[in-house]
Amino acid sequence: LARRARQPHRCYVVGQDEQHLRQLTLVHDLQEAAPQGQLTMVYQPQLDARTGRVTAVEALMRWQHPRLGFIPPDEFITLAEHSGSIQRLTQWMVDTVCAQLRAWEQDGCRVDAAINLSAKDVTDDSLPGRLQHCLTSHGLSPERLRLEITESAIMQEPEQAACRLDTLRQAGLRIAVDDFGTGYSSLAQLKRLPVQELKIDKSFILKLDENADDEIIVRSTIELGHNLGLEIVAEGVETEASRVLLTRLGCDILQGYLFSHPLSASQFCAWKAAHDKA
Ligand code: C2E
Ligand code: CA
Ligand code: CA
Ligand code: CA
Repeated sequence: LARRARQPHRCYVVGQDEQHLRQLTLVHDLQEAAPQGQLTMVYQPQLDARTGRVTAVEALMRWQHPRLGFIPPDEFITLAEHSGSIQRLTQWMVDTVCAQLRAWEQDGCRVDAAINLSAKDVTDDSLPGRLQHCLTSHGLSPERLRLEITESAIMQEPEQAACRLDTLRQAGLRIAVDDFGTGYSSLAQLKRLPVQELKIDKSFILKLDENADDEIIVRSTIELGHNLGLEIVAEGVETEASRVLLTRLGCDILQGYLFSHPLSASQFCAWKAAHDKA
């Protein structure tokens, strides 16, 4: 049995080496990615479910590696967290997004932005100060930024996270629990956190129109969330049937490919102008 258990390991050695080399390369090159202009932000619209108006965008990071091509954010963000470069990436992202909100505003395109924070950001005590400094220097009020933090990031160090989130909340930033439903936290635990928004994970939304279990989960999350005074966001809305159902269930904000894929800054501005007119 012992020998059999070792076998699969042996089979993957070659693949593992390649994977390891890729990781080492990415960790190294990530340090220069922002100054070299390889990082960009894209923006995906979030709509008010009842009025259909665009209220915000979610800012998502993209890395085009000069040799390896497009690197999925899930992959390089995880590497950045483990190699200690996440703080600089987050700083670059916050600067870029704040500058963008300001630039859009000057073009008559006003929206708020949701940004993603990693577990490491949440326990970083310099984060609240750095966020506030960035907002002030771009002349933005704090409620223009929503912080999306995954359930699992909060639950890694719940006490410390709660304390840090409290500071951010008091500074006027909005806080959303991202990927809600995929972790192990209960709504009772969430009640003690200073959050205003629940973002239901897209795994419950993608097949919502065909899967009765998903509908039950989504329905009760919306009900319980509303009873706790939280705003409910659904991501991964891909079909008109899901949009109709979510709106009927009382979901507040919708995001997904049905409305738009993530767009470059200039694409978003044009998309919003066309959407507002329609
Ligand atoms: P997330 O925060 O859960 O982001 C939502 C992901 O769902 C995005 O993938 C988005 O493009 C995708 N999505 C949106 N609508 C739909 C839809 O209708 N159908 C489907 N199938 N997918 C949809 P993306 O851009 O690849 O981002 C993946 C993850 O990478 C994010 O998950 C987030 O955890 C992380 N990430 C991205 N940018 C940043 C960043 O600036 N900082 C940090 N810390 N994490 C980031
Ligand atoms: Ca997110
Ligand atoms: Ca999510
Ligand atoms: Ca996610």
